Amino acid sequence: MHLKALYLKKILLSIFFALIFNACESKDPSLIEYLFSTSNPKMTALEFNASQATCPKCRMSVEDKLNAAQVVFADEKSYVFDDVGCMVLWVKQVGANIKSIKTFVYTKDTHRWLDANVAYYSIKDKTPMGYGFGAYEKSQKEFIDFETMRIKMLRGENMSDPKIRKMLLGQ
Ligand SMILES: [Zn+2]
Repeated sequence: MHLKALYLKKILLSIFFALIFNACESKDPSLIEYLFSTSNPKMTALEFNASQATCPKCRMSVEDKLNAAQVVFADEKSYVFDDVGCMVLWVKQVGANIKSIKTFVYTKDTHRWLDANVAYYSIKDKTPMGYGFGAYEKSQKEFIDFETMRIKMLRGENMSDPKIRKMLLGQ
């Protein structure tokens, strides 16, 4: 009798924790905590000063525009990222609909905010989180497009993998 009660208690507890866990999962804190702006009627890239924004993925301050990226949702909520790799991972993490959001990168060659979908990406740049994807407006040898970069990022095929790093840099 006692054992049966204990067993039942165990089951109830595991259901309780499963419910709590699911509730936390569905409310990603980075959606609220790291919000950069709530008003962006033109859905454009917003200007910011270094250290004014915090990356919702790695939670580091965005020190430099050069590798930065931005996401704007249809409800005008904007987020700023220190590394385009963080943006790709975060968009996937929060389950954002890529067709309804706008994404921007700051180009390293022309120094302006550009639609992330039309930029070209170097695969071996020095970037804050070490993923290696640097955004450029003009294509160069070995550069890849946004979709290729996004897939490589999601598969973990980037400079943060020591084997890939060695292959690309030869060291
Ligand atoms: Zn980051």
